[in-house]
Parts: sequence; C-alpha cells; structure tokens
Amino acid sequence: MFTLSVNRRAADRLRSGHLWTYRSDLAAEPEAEPGSLVTLLDPRGLPLGTALYSSASQIAARLVSSRPGLTRAEYLADVRIRIAEALDLRRRLAPSSAANNAHRIIFSEADNLPGIVADRYNDLVLLQLLTQGTAQEDVRSVFVEALRAAAPSGEGQRELTIWERPDARVGELEQLPAPARGALFSTQAAPPSSTIFALNGLRFHYDVAAGQKTGAFLDQRLNYAAAARAVAEAVSARRSGADGPRALDVCSYQGGFALHLAKVCAQVTGVDASRSALEAAERNLTLNQTHHPSLLTDCQVDWMEADAFAYLRHLDDTARAGGSRPSSSKSLFDAIVLDPPAFAKSRRAVEGALRGYKELNLRALRLLAPGGTLITNSCSHHISMEEFTAVVAAAASDARRKVQLLERRAAAPDHPEILTLPETGYLKCLICRVEG
Ligand code: SAH
Repeated sequence: MFTLSVNRRAADRLRSGHLWTYRSDLAAEPEAEPGSLVTLLDPRGLPLGTALYSSASQIAARLVSSRPGLTRAEYLADVRIRIAEALDLRRRLAPSSAANNAHRIIFSEADNLPGIVADRYNDLVLLQLLTQGTAQEDVRSVFVEALRAAAPSGEGQRELTIWERPDARVGELEQLPAPARGALFSTQAAPPSSTIFALNGLRFHYDVAAGQKTGAFLDQRLNYAAAARAVAEAVSARRSGADGPRALDVCSYQGGFALHLAKVCAQVTGVDASRSALEAAERNLTLNQTHHPSLLTDCQVDWMEADAFAYLRHLDDTARAGGSRPSSSKSLFDAIVLDPPAFAKSRRAVEGALRGYKELNLRALRLLAPGGTLITNSCSHHISMEEFTAVVAAAASDARRKVQLLERRAAAPDHPEILTLPETGYLKCLICRVEG
C-alpha cells in the first residue's frame, strides 16, 4: 500500500478529529492510484490512519480509519457497519410516517462515510458517490446489500428502488465517470423513477432525473415547519392587512417554504431564477390543493421567475416611491423567507457573499410590516453562524428596524454535524421578528 506524507498542519488537523488532507498539505505529488486506499504519515513518519486518495480534488485524502494499512475488504466491511449505524440513527431521528417519509439516510463525513450521500424519498433511495474512492462498483454493491438487509420484510413490506444520481459539479472536480444508467435495485419489475413524498403532511413530486442536489432540500424540512409555526403565531398576535397575511419566499426552488407558508397565509409569492424549479413548485401546489384542499385554505399562491436581487430591489423601490408608511402599506409583507444558494463556495468568495447576504436581508427588512417575520438562511459552510448573524444585524441597523432573534436553527438532525468537522454544520436559519 502507498503511504502519503502530510505536513504538520494536516497531521494536527487529523489528530484533532478532522478527516481531510488538502493537496497543498502533501509533501510531494503522490503516485497512488486514483481512488485507492493510502496510509497517511505525519512528518515524523508516524501513521495517522488510512484514507481514500483522490488524484483530482483539492481534498487529496479523506480519512476512513484511524487504523493504518486498511485493505479494500476491511474498508468495505467498515462501510457496511457504518451504513447500518446510519440507518439505525435515522430510524430513531426521522422515523417514516404518512406525514414525513423523506430524509437523509447517509451524510458523508457526518456519518463517517466520506464520499457517500443518500436520501430517501418515500419508496425511492438516491445514492450519490462523490469521490474517486467511493464511485466504485464494490461500494455500490455494499450499499444496495445494506439497504436491502435493513428493509422491513413480510407484513407491511415497502417497495424500494435505489437509483444513483451524479452531482455534475463534484463529478467534474473529482473527474468521475458517469454512473451507469438504470436503477441499482428495485423490488418492482419496472423500477419507478418518480414518486410523491411527504414533509410535515404536505406532498411533493419527486423525479429522479430533475432538480438540484438529490432532488429536494431535505435539510430544511424542520425549518419549513418552524417557519410556518412562527408566522402563524405572529399573524394571530396582530391584525394583518385587510387582504390577510402576505408572504414572500425568495429562492423558492420547488416551493418548500412557500407551500408551508400557504397553510397560514392568504397570499404567497415564490421567487426563483429557475423556471423549471417553479414549474415543479406549481405542480406541488396543485398536488396539495387536490389531495388536501383543507390544508391550503384560501391561499393565493403565485410564482415569479426573477433574479432575487433585482426583484427585491424593484419591490423596495416601488414601496418607497409610493411613500408607503409601514403601518398602512399594501406593498409590505407579513413574512419573508430568504434561502439563496451558497454564495461562498470558497474562502475567497466570503467577502462578496457577505455583501450579497447583506443586500438581500436589508431589502427584506425594509419590506416587512411591523411585527413581520423574517426567515433568513445561509448554506455557505465558509460563513459561520456568528458572521451570518452579524450580517443580518448590519442590515437591521441600516434598515433602522429593531430585529428580535426568535430562533437560531440548523439543518434537520438527519444531517448531523461533527463538531470537529465544521464543514458538516453548514446551514444557518434565523427566525426573526421585526418590530415597527
Ligand atoms: N428554499 C428552497 C431551496 C433554495 S436553493 C427549498 O427549501 O427547497 C436556492 C435556489 O435559489 C435555487 O432554486 C436556485 O434556482 C435559486 N437561485 C439561484 N440564484 C438565484 C438568483 N440570483 N435569483 C433567484 N433565485 C436564484
């Protein structure tokens, strides 16, 4: 087996519980095979454990065991055990029910399974193999076996179909081959490629071949419910405009927040730059109106294909041109959700990202009615909760609005966070009450 010498900084990082070694931390460009197991050595030659090597990514090695010299068979045996543990944890953290049957079942480093992500959407499981070391046939087979072994059998047996779904950006970074087409496993003769899943009693369409990430942003599922709860409480505590409470969901994607807010508002607008995402959002709206007409009572929901910055600027300019007083204006909202994509995909992009968050939050705060609710999110792992909160504070100060922070939230617990691996705690969700 190959050994890889890492510098002091990387050795310290690994000893403190992190799993990554960057390319810049290697003493020399290694000759190890792409995706192979390598033993990492500190500058004194002491072993640090076994890692999966990548010849392409900036993350050159991901530690998979503190034992040095692990063979592929031993690694796969560990993977089998860790998948079983991850599934067991989900059974306790996110039990499936008619109202909730979508969650993350494997979250890469956070489940000690670097390079492996899997989400369940009702009867479909979507697998992503995201590194050279895991995008291999043996890992696929172990995964399928582990899921079949964990599936309930006999009475109440559920259908299960497993698909692999590539991630275009990671695939390029890691130089991965495209996965073979077709389902990896199915209990059905014709494996379904679409389904309907439920979150907090609402229903959503799922299509294996469409959308971003594995399809939906399951990390937000409990924040949807919390947002709806906070808005319901806020609007019941005071009178909203004559037309009832109005909400705006900025970067709505397929309508996750918008549909939850439609349960408690009279009017909701979902804004997104992606037309196909909004078309999916409209289908989700129709699905819920058809199956649960009582859930979305009398709410007018519409979708707006627009750039978030331009749209908020336009609303803000219009509100100000009308000289609207916050207490009387029809152009103000009772709730605004901001959930933009990760603006800071790298450390260097942080400054620009902070400016972007500041602008969106400033505009949103200006557009909220007194007593309104701001649900503001950041999914950039390069930006900490403290930095994000400070940006919202700066926006509040510029907008001259007093903002009460009601809840500081993160991803749902089926996306656990490893304290010594801060990258696993990327999602920040603040629920705020904006005073007059
Ligand atoms: N709130 C969504 C997830 C949002 S993901 C949910 O809970 O499901 C980020 C979304 O922002 C994507 O749908 C993407 O299409 C959209 N987006 C990216 N850049 C944008 C921009 N400049 N203006 C508007 N939408 C944008």
